[in-house]
Amino acid sequence: DAKTAGRERLRRHAPAAATRTVASAALESSLRHAAQRGELELHYQAKVDARSHRVSGCEALLRWRHPEQGLMLPERFIPLAEETGLIVPLTRWVLHTACSQMQRWQAVGLVPGHVAVNLSAGPFIEAALLDDVREVLTETGMDPTLLELEITESMMMGCAAESRAILIGLKTLGVRIAIDDFGIGYSSLSQLKNLPVDIIKMDRSFINDVPGDRVDEAIATAIIAMGKSLRAAVVAEGVEAVEQLDFLRGLGCDQIQGYYFSKPLPAVEFEELLRSELMRGAK
Ligand code: C2E
Ligand code: MG
Ligand code: MG
Ligand code: MG
Repeated sequence: DAKTAGRERLRRHAPAAATRTVASAALESSLRHAAQRGELELHYQAKVDARSHRVSGCEALLRWRHPEQGLMLPERFIPLAEETGLIVPLTRWVLHTACSQMQRWQAVGLVPGHVAVNLSAGPFIEAALLDDVREVLTETGMDPTLLELEITESMMMGCAAESRAILIGLKTLGVRIAIDDFGIGYSSLSQLKNLPVDIIKMDRSFINDVPGDRVDEAIATAIIAMGKSLRAAVVAEGVEAVEQLDFLRGLGCDQIQGYYFSKPLPAVEFEELLRSELMRGAK
């Protein structure tokens, strides 16, 4: 009967669910210690000026060199960190590491431009954010105008008034605000108008099929035009081919990020890229 069938279904599903919970509990406890064990690292991906093709900045992307599972990408552990509140110390680590690294590069005469750090949405992170950013800027001596914070549309749309207050607080510190993955969230354009946004990062999904796909071409065109009218810089992410680059530059897109120029690189390799830029400039 239905009841037996239901119990049977439960019995069959329970072990899988339990395994998943044990696995994520184990992951959580190892993530808790990952920073102090030196397992976290930042990779840096260049952002390039669409016209000059010079590096104008970079985005810091978190990686976890897990002792058993190897190099883990953020989608494997950021959601867990967000659920458990571990995202707060993790974000602090990312901010501190990125800003210290920028200071070290500048000290040896390299010109990394700005560094962008990704922020998660949610009440955990929002409560700690202002203090953490302020403290990290003080600790590292980083020029606040060279720090960009990438937020997603969902972060602003939670509680509009509260998010707006946080963003204004951040702006007061001098940092710049970018909206990441722009276009796939559920922001209303009028809300965007009321937020202090400096940079719009157009989502990769609109870049994949341009030029060629008429709808994506129209969306990219509209986003770039809107960025201009809001006086925000527009960055295209996920640019992999020269045709995409040419198309976007033609529309007036400001910056390009994607495998076409460079993948995210470990710090030592990104430093080499900066050195070769310096050579190019000296010529
Ligand atoms: P995102 O902020 O949109 O970062 C861009 C992602 O696109 C990165 O993936 C990057 O490696 C990838 N990408 C860049 N250029 C290309 C390209 O030309 N083609 C393709 N196919 N992919 C490209 P990654 O590093 O795996 O990061 C994924 C997401 O994880 C990020 O998306 C961001 O939302 C999140 N994330 C990364 N680091 C952090 C962090 O420190 N804190 C938080 N809260 N989230 C982070
Ligand atoms: Mg980002
Ligand atoms: Mg993005
Ligand atoms: Mg993303």
